[in-house]
Amino acid sequence: MQFRIYSERDVSPFSEKMEKVSCKLSHDIDVIIVGAGFGGLSAAIKLARANKKVIVLERGMPVGSKNLSGGVLWGNDLGEILPNWKEEAPIERFVVKKKLGFLSEGDATILDFYFDDFKEKKTGAIVLRAKFDAWLAEQAKEAGARVEPGINVDKLLVENGQVVGIESNGETLRAPITIIMDGANSRLTLESGFRNHSKMSEAKGNFMLGIKEVLSLDPELINQRFGVSSEHGSAGEYVLGNMPNDVLAGGFIYTNGSSISLGVVIHLTSLSTKDRSYEVYEKFKSHPHVQQLIEGASQLEYGAHLIPEAGIKMMPQISGPGFLVGGDAAGFVFSNGMVIQGMNYAAKSGILAAEAAIAALDKGSFDAKTMGQYDKMIKDSYIYKDLKNFKNVTKMTKNPNLFKIYPEAINNGFKNLIEEDGKPKQKAWKTIMKSFKEKGAGLFTLMRDGRKGMNL
Ligand SMILES: Cc1cc2nc3c(=O)[nH]c(=O)nc-3n(C[C@H](O)[C@H](O)[C@H](O)COP(=O)(O)OP(=O)(O)OC[C@H]3O[C@@H](n4cnc5c(N)ncnc54)[C@H](O)[C@@H]3O)c2cc1C
Repeated sequence: MQFRIYSERDVSPFSEKMEKVSCKLSHDIDVIIVGAGFGGLSAAIKLARANKKVIVLERGMPVGSKNLSGGVLWGNDLGEILPNWKEEAPIERFVVKKKLGFLSEGDATILDFYFDDFKEKKTGAIVLRAKFDAWLAEQAKEAGARVEPGINVDKLLVENGQVVGIESNGETLRAPITIIMDGANSRLTLESGFRNHSKMSEAKGNFMLGIKEVLSLDPELINQRFGVSSEHGSAGEYVLGNMPNDVLAGGFIYTNGSSISLGVVIHLTSLSTKDRSYEVYEKFKSHPHVQQLIEGASQLEYGAHLIPEAGIKMMPQISGPGFLVGGDAAGFVFSNGMVIQGMNYAAKSGILAAEAAIAALDKGSFDAKTMGQYDKMIKDSYIYKDLKNFKNVTKMTKNPNLFKIYPEAINNGFKNLIEEDGKPKQKAWKTIMKSFKEKGAGLFTLMRDGRKGMNL
């Protein structure tokens, strides 16, 4: 079913555009999806393939312009709806190297993992959202969905306790089901009372702030500096021990085809009013280890975005009469310092939301019980199992010792082991223990943190 009216390039004024959409669609829409990110577009593809009439409303123009990830897309959830996506989608490189780094002032210890079977499995696809989301939107349109960028949804339309559509710029659009995939800063779930908090300021502890820059760099230099070949790439995460004040932050560096994605993720509660988030990013960027990797690179993009980090503890009501919630809006993100996963959960929850919507449409019932089938699908999926399994992961990932003690202690420990200063050498374990002790971490602290580390 194809019912496109105008293309993504249409730049008609906002209200005029919404008017066009609502009047042309006064005849039945089955599902309205808010947000053309991974979640919304995956749901749209699945629904359109089942011949359901679906429209995706996206505030960004074009699709992808508001979106930002590190970003490595892990796993193969998209394979359920797009079997050849790994060959056809705009993928920068596939991960073969994973790095974990501990940075302190001037020093770095980097663990460099190489997984040869990742080449065959193509398990981690490094993507740039502007390109990838635009491609995903094309797939949704080809499947028969309407994708309308440049439309900001103001609120849900609720009648007799049931969501019956949306409002945008004074116009309304009706459908028996609305799928809310409006991302981390989900105003729709906040303002509709589906979340624990009614204001983002109250929910601060549930989020990290991501800042990311894309830096253009010659592909040959990327290959040399990161020890990779043209289609293979490296994804590095860093524990940042060189941050000012009490800021707790991690860094990342991913290799794209001809650029580098560089960024930081900052635990929002550690950021005080005197800290400037861009300075946190600059501090990471100016570290000598990072500098030698990006020397000569120039800026292509710069952006900031929230990342949910409280997982299951921040999960809102994800279904109810006439609506379903998925992706970041539902808090479906996992981060353990080694990886961030959110795009895969968004895609999977989008597919499950579409399946739940298809079942409800076929049954002709949109009450809480029918829509609640989605809760069960999520609970049976790996998304919920992961989030439940790792529900206490922040005990370690937000542990100040991880940032304030360990990077410097590790770096000093290894430096002392390697350096020759003309004095008698100590055994390795003694050197490293001494270095931890000097930073204030004795045996008990290490044991306590070791217990917290069991949550990773
Ligand atoms: C710095 C950073 C690094 C990350 N790294 C990774 C990584 O390496 N791997 C990984 O898997 N994940 C990563 N993530 C997380 C990942 O980006 C998200 O989990 C994923 O994008 C969630 O998809 P989504 O569809 O739920 O939301 P989004 O992709 O955010 O899409 C939501 C869409 O809704 C639109 N929207 C919002 N409100 C409205 C409205 N009112 N009306 C209309 N449209 C609206 C937005 O413009 C947006 O297009 C990272 C995130 C950040 C910020």
